[in-house]
Amino acid sequence: MPCPRRHTPTHTDGRPLKITFGEMREMGLRGVLVYCHCGHHIAVNADCWPDGMRLSDLDPHFVSAGCGNRGAEVRPSFESGKPPQFASSIRKEATK
Ligand SMILES: [Zn+2]
Repeated sequence: MPCPRRHTPTHTDGRPLKITFGEMREMGLRGVLVYCHCGHHIAVNADCWPDGMRLSDLDPHFVSAGCGNRGAEVRPSFESGKPPQFASSIRKEATK
C-alpha cells in the first residue's frame, strides 16, 4: 500500500506539526505563549521541555485557568528573550 507524503506533516489525529522546543531555542526563544479559545493566555518558560518535543505535542495537555477547558494553542513567545515573568508561578486568574 503506497504511503503518499503530504506537504504539511501532521500528527496522527490530523493536527499540524509545530516546531520543536529545540528549534525554538535555536531561534533564541526561551518561552511559549499558551492561548485558549476563551481568550485566556499565559506565558510559560519552555526550559523544562526536551528539544525533541513539539509545541503541538503540548496543545492537548493544557487546561485553561480561565474557563477550565482542556486543549490550547501553544505558540513561541517572541518576547521571551527577556526573563520570563510567569515561569515559576502559574497563577489562577483571580479577577475577571
Ligand atoms: Zn479558556
